[in-house]
Amino acid sequence: MDKPSPDRWLAVWEAGARRHPLDRALLLFALASPDTPVAELADAPLGERNAALMALRSACFGGRLSGWCGCPACGERMSVALTSGDLPPPPAADGPVVVDGHGFARPTSRHLAMLAGIDDPDAAADALLAACALHPAALPDDRTALRRAVAVALDEADPWADLSLDLVCPACGDQQATALDIAALLWEELDAYAGRLLDDVHQLAWAYGWTEAEILALGEARRAAYLARTSGGRRVVQ
Ligand SMILES: [Zn+2]
Repeated sequence: MDKPSPDRWLAVWEAGARRHPLDRALLLFALASPDTPVAELADAPLGERNAALMALRSACFGGRLSGWCGCPACGERMSVALTSGDLPPPPAADGPVVVDGHGFARPTSRHLAMLAGIDDPDAAADALLAACALHPAALPDDRTALRRAVAVALDEADPWADLSLDLVCPACGDQQATALDIAALLWEELDAYAGRLLDDVHQLAWAYGWTEAEILALGEARRAAYLARTSGGRRVVQ
C-alpha cells in the first residue's frame, strides 16, 4: 500500500474533525482504498473496512498497536500491546451467511449509520437483523434466538467485522473480551499526527516564510533537518 502524502492526511483530518465516528471511518477507508468510489465503500462489509484501515495503519504508523484500557471489574489500568500478526487473517470471501434457512448479508457502514438514531439495544439489533436479511418478510416474529445465532455466524465468517481481544486483568484475574475499534484508534493517531504536521508547518513558515504546500511537499528527513536548524528560534525571513 502506498503511504498517503502529508497533505492528503491533513485533508482527511480536516474533513472529519467535526464528523460522526462512522463518517471518519469512511474517510479513512477512502484514503486506504483510493480507487473505489465512496458510495461503494459505504456498502462494503465492516470486516473489509477494518482490514483496509489496519493495512493503512501498518503502512503509515507501524504494525505494533499499544494502549491502555480499564478493567471493568476493578478499574485497574491494563496495558495492551499487539502486532497485526496477533489479529485473525482478513476474510477471504464476503458472501452472505445462512442461518436456519435465512440468508444474511454482512453488516456495512450504511447499516450502522441506519442504527445511529436507535437508542434501545434490542430494537437496534432487530433493525440490523432485518436490514441484513436477504428476505426480511420471511423472518420469524420472535427473533431473539435467531439474532444470537446470526451474530455467532457472522463473527465466525468475518472476525474482522467486530474485532475483540481477550484480556485478563493482572490485578483481579477478571477475563473480558474488549472491543478493538481500529477506526477510532487510527483516528486518534491521525489527530496526533496532524497536530505534529501543523506544528512543523507553523515553525517552518515562521522561520523561512514558506507556504503550507511547500512545507508539506518536503520529505520527512528534509523537513526534520530544517526544523533542527530553527530550534534556536532563529528567524531566517525578516
Ligand atoms: Zn481487574
